[in-house]
Amino acid sequence: MIQRDYLIIGAGIGGACACEAIRKHDKRGSVTLVGAEAYAPYKRWLLSKSFLREKTLVPRKYAEVDERWYPAHKIDARFNTAVTQLNIDRRVAVLGNGESVEFNKACLAMGSRPGRPPVAGVGLGNVIYLRSMRDAFALREMAEHEKNVMVVGGGLLACEVAASLRQMKMKMKVSVMHRHGTLLNRYLDFETATWVTGYFAKNGVTLLLGESLNGFEGKTVLRNIQTKSGNRVAAGLAVVACGGEPNLDLVRNTPLSGPHGSPVNDYLETEEKGIYAIGDLAFYPDRLMGGMRRQTHWENAREQGFVAGANMTGKKRIRYEQLPYFWTEMFDLRLDFVGDFTMQPTRVDLTGTHAKKKFTARYYQGDRLRGILISAGTPKQVESAKTELKRALGK
Ligand SMILES: Cc1cc2nc3c(=O)[nH]c(=O)nc-3n(C[C@H](O)[C@H](O)[C@H](O)COP(=O)(O)OP(=O)(O)OC[C@H]3O[C@@H](n4cnc5c(N)ncnc54)[C@H](O)[C@@H]3O)c2cc1C
Repeated sequence: MIQRDYLIIGAGIGGACACEAIRKHDKRGSVTLVGAEAYAPYKRWLLSKSFLREKTLVPRKYAEVDERWYPAHKIDARFNTAVTQLNIDRRVAVLGNGESVEFNKACLAMGSRPGRPPVAGVGLGNVIYLRSMRDAFALREMAEHEKNVMVVGGGLLACEVAASLRQMKMKMKVSVMHRHGTLLNRYLDFETATWVTGYFAKNGVTLLLGESLNGFEGKTVLRNIQTKSGNRVAAGLAVVACGGEPNLDLVRNTPLSGPHGSPVNDYLETEEKGIYAIGDLAFYPDRLMGGMRRQTHWENAREQGFVAGANMTGKKRIRYEQLPYFWTEMFDLRLDFVGDFTMQPTRVDLTGTHAKKKFTARYYQGDRLRGILISAGTPKQVESAKTELKRALGK
């Protein structure tokens, strides 16, 4: 049995930052980081962007942490290894290779996985779910030989993938099937969503809006896609981007698993003392905007990793207190979202114009500012938006 002061489960950005924070505050404690993927933590967000667009891949560009950092900081990092069982009472984790780790404190950083729609053919060859570097390599490879690709979904990931595939190979027909009338409708006001949708059409993406997926057809490999309205669309490759779910299998049927993620307190600690949950997994109290929230965005996982890692050492006791924030890139558009975009605004104040691709839209619920959307902004503008929103919230 291996004995450790700290065990980090999941080597994504959250797990990486938890390790960094532990080492910052505790130079000696023994740490094991276990990651199911074959790679050291990498920039997952690039997978739907330059990873698909660029002709030649430069692996260095994708690394978040140089894997030599771990031995240099006396962290036992095990990639290509999954934690298969977790005994919370005994504080023991079993690894895929049969070894067991007894730990004092743990951080759950297992992230999320793509949702699979409940239709026929979801497991066919050439139906891709983009989450990992491995999925992205497969998608790149398949797209090189295909003329006709369908992206199912109309959210951030679906739009990024469609735009990148279009840029990757102009000769390829790229279609997007989305059950709503506009892309990104979950995040954007109607006018902005209509503008983005038009931008995709202008850039040669075929749009099947108001159409729902009924199933994938093919013997072993995808041939056609059926829609609920009875249409049948030929496609040799499909990318399904219909949301995701937190990777909670390890803690299923325990209080560490809830319908919205792993519930944690202000310090990102679960109800089991010494066990923390972060990133895509954590259902945390939003101290600035109110309510409980689970975010599936990069900055959130990163910052929560730093907070949980520091708190685990017992040398710090930091509350997680960040505004929700994420960004997206599609074609030459860059959108930054500061605040809460989970509800349609009742009022929008637009500065600048959609036509010029440069604008700021302030989203209100009644007279309360809840979110600031910036198109083609600078990091400085994003920081100012955070300050403005905090001030409006009285924080
Ligand atoms: C293609 C793509 C593009 C994205 N683009 C953006 C973007 O532009 N902006 C943005 O804000 N966010 C973006 N995101 C979301 C962002 O990447 C995630 O929110 C972030 O990666 C979450 O970090 P995490 O550490 O919580 O989880 P993850 O990054 O998912 O890492 C979790 C890791 O844990 C591993 N794991 C799971 N179970 C186990 C186990 N039992 N044992 C060991 N290891 C395990 C997983 O294999 C994975 O490597 C994107 C996501 C994807 C997939």
